[in-house]
Amino acid sequence: MLEATNLFFNRAADHLELPEDLRTILLTPRRVVRVEIVTESDDGRLLHHLGFRVQHNSVRGPMKGGLRFHPSMDEDHAASLASLMTWKTAVVDIPYGGAKGGSNCDPSKLSNRELYRITTRFVELMKEVVGPTVDIPAPDVNTNAQVMGWIMDEYTKYYGFSPGVVTGKPLDLFGSLGREEATGRGVMYALQEYLQADGRSLSDVSVSIQGFGNVGSNAARLIAEQGGRIVATSDISGGIANEQGIDIPALLEWTAEHGVVAGFPGAEPIDGADVLTFKADVLIPAALEDALTADNAAEVQAEVVVEAANAPTTPDAHDILHRRGITVIPDILANAGGVTVSYFEWSQNIQQFRWELDRVNQELERVMRRAYGSVADLARDTGLDLRTAAF
Ligand code: NAD
Repeated sequence: MLEATNLFFNRAADHLELPEDLRTILLTPRRVVRVEIVTESDDGRLLHHLGFRVQHNSVRGPMKGGLRFHPSMDEDHAASLASLMTWKTAVVDIPYGGAKGGSNCDPSKLSNRELYRITTRFVELMKEVVGPTVDIPAPDVNTNAQVMGWIMDEYTKYYGFSPGVVTGKPLDLFGSLGREEATGRGVMYALQEYLQADGRSLSDVSVSIQGFGNVGSNAARLIAEQGGRIVATSDISGGIANEQGIDIPALLEWTAEHGVVAGFPGAEPIDGADVLTFKADVLIPAALEDALTADNAAEVQAEVVVEAANAPTTPDAHDILHRRGITVIPDILANAGGVTVSYFEWSQNIQQFRWELDRVNQELERVMRRAYGSVADLARDTGLDLRTAAF
């Protein structure tokens, strides 16, 4: 995975004719930390997990990036995602560097108390290398506002009141209005900008979305509210489709009750993998990395892929899509809404001043549209694809 991120970086570096020494500095993480997390299960066994934090670059400000709890989490994943965070914060021009981390634990197999113990032990082991002006974690796959609240609470035990150590916190614990939906909202703005270039709007398109977690479900809801037709979606339980458009508020009620999209009565069940090649104008991968590969990129039917997930497209798949004339709005632009509102949350924490929701959304919209415009202008002027232009 790191190899793919570095390959995309090097394409931009080739275009810029960056010298080798500078490339080496920009590709090498500043610090890589791996810890052993030993905790107790509810029935008294010892649980053994690994924790990672890769701090990629801090030239533009404190390092920033999500925490992922997933069995696939390892140093390579963290390094790749940390590097993407450096470029992402630069693309939207917020004063941060990049980092990423997490644990290889599987929350679906843990009780809430077990997850709490793993999280707080992680903080205890990492507390010297994170902090409000050093490295500020945020939610990612399988972590949420509650986990962020635990992190703030644990860090505060050692260093005193420090809400700025982590973002994506619950509203009652110094979180920001609008953070939960920010990544999905940013995805919507990026897609709107793409469509506006030839006079279209969201109500003109059908959309297929892989992944119905935080990012996928919020993108679905917001796009549907603007008239977009969500024709297929999926999660770990499989896929569902309805060519007339899935009733997203009803699906959100269903998933709130049942946890997964499978069984939703307002759509037909389909194979989860088919969501990626479903007939729709827009494809939004919003699950995990490597969703689009050399095996399925030739079958994609959409005219545009909006990368809500991080690194969902392998370099081979990117090249196939490019040759086929399919536009890819890259992760470091498309999903930057989350880190942007994390920055707003951190700013509010430091100033001890809460913004109204309207202000959060207006500022997010301004940042996303400006970033999209600058990347699209550069791509147009240079003939580069959007990903290389963004890098
Ligand atoms: P999440 O844990 O809330 O949701 C992940 C979703 O993907 C779930 O619905 C899960 O069932 C589904 N999924 C997992 N494997 C799948 C598969 N093989 N097929 C179909 N669905 C599958 O995570 P999230 O926060 O929504 O993150 C999703 C992606 O967005 C990740 O790549 C993450 O790095 C990226 N991202 C998240 C944020 C954020 O603010 N949360 C910000 C930027 C980027």
